[in-house]
Amino acid sequence: MPMLYLKCKTCQTEFPSGMEFDKKAFETSKITGNYHICPDGHSNQYEKEDYFFKE
Ligand SMILES: [Zn+2]
Repeated sequence: MPMLYLKCKTCQTEFPSGMEFDKKAFETSKITGNYHICPDGHSNQYEKEDYFFKE
């Protein structure tokens, strides 16, 4: 399944979230308030609209 990516809210680096999602399942999913740590060590909380797929 494709990997969901995030852009760090602190340093704007794009990084893989570690969450793989079927694209259709993602559209109907309710992802909220997950913490992720970017490669530079910034911990931030992300909502569903923060996730994106890289083609
Ligand atoms: Zn960062």
